[in-house]
Amino acid sequence: MIFKCKNCGGNVVYDPSRGKMYCPHCESEDSQDAVSGGSLTQCVNCGAPIEVQEYTSACRCEHCGSYIVFDERVEGVYEPRMMLPFRIGREQAVAILDKEFGRRTFAPSDFMSTKSLEKMTGVYVPFWLYDYKGCYDFVGEGTTVRSWRSGNTEYIETSYYEVVRKMDVNFDKVPVDASYAMEDRVMDLMEPYDYAALQDFDPKYMSGFSGEIYNQEAPELEDRAKAKARSASEEMMRSSCIQYSSMKVLRSDLDLQQSGVNYALMPVWEYLYRYRDKTYRFHVNGQTGKTIGATPVSKAKVLTYGASVFALVTAACYLAIRFLEIL
Ligand SMILES: [Zn+2]
Ligand SMILES: [Zn+2]
Repeated sequence: MIFKCKNCGGNVVYDPSRGKMYCPHCESEDSQDAVSGGSLTQCVNCGAPIEVQEYTSACRCEHCGSYIVFDERVEGVYEPRMMLPFRIGREQAVAILDKEFGRRTFAPSDFMSTKSLEKMTGVYVPFWLYDYKGCYDFVGEGTTVRSWRSGNTEYIETSYYEVVRKMDVNFDKVPVDASYAMEDRVMDLMEPYDYAALQDFDPKYMSGFSGEIYNQEAPELEDRAKAKARSASEEMMRSSCIQYSSMKVLRSDLDLQQSGVNYALMPVWEYLYRYRDKTYRFHVNGQTGKTIGATPVSKAKVLTYGASVFALVTAACYLAIRFLEIL
């Protein structure tokens, strides 16, 4: 499938900054016609042979530069139920990253000027969103500590409490990425997404971006969703026990019933930078702008920073001594 402009025949793409379909050739908006056809081996626009990876659902034709969505990979079992369209466009994502690099104290001074962009792709990453109803049972031992002084003796009193919590927990859309190519840790750090903006799936939002189908089925990945539900339950429990100074878990049990699971696409910008023969990978949440990635660290900068802190401490001591002298 390709989205062609009714006015000029050019390739229409989804433009996040406009929130609309946009033809970069004649600058018209919402002028697209969806043209189905093509295959996984041939470009629907120019007929050139294309090489598609195992899980690719959308990509750019190297030959004619058109963005293609593969019909058979967005239909039937591969039709997503919902998606978050990109809200952050290419230029905005670059600006967010540049600002982020500027904030990183230990990045080498020449990183900004000498790094070279190797690749920059907007990807719709496949996710499973799990819904659960459940019950969280918790028994723990909480303590409170009181201390006071009488004469030369300090008294410490520790009180022990049996803490019992039974909570009904509902989880709506616990996200787990279903892409081998995306690192789980990075995808987890991309959260949270604003689910209020979720839309029904429409392939037009994929025009201008790359995409993947889910690499694994929902049951295969469910353990990750359950682990997230468990840690969220524990966190809720702990936030209801802030009056205790310590808490020992004696027994905890989370009973979860899955009440729904949906296949969804989430927007992620992926950047690869080359700096002194090494590649650095950054991800920007295509909806919220949250940035994940590590910049190189300049040893000289770390040392200078250490030295300046040391110098500051010395200066502070010096001032304190001077101050005493004046007294
Ligand atoms: Zn046009
Ligand atoms: Zn082509």
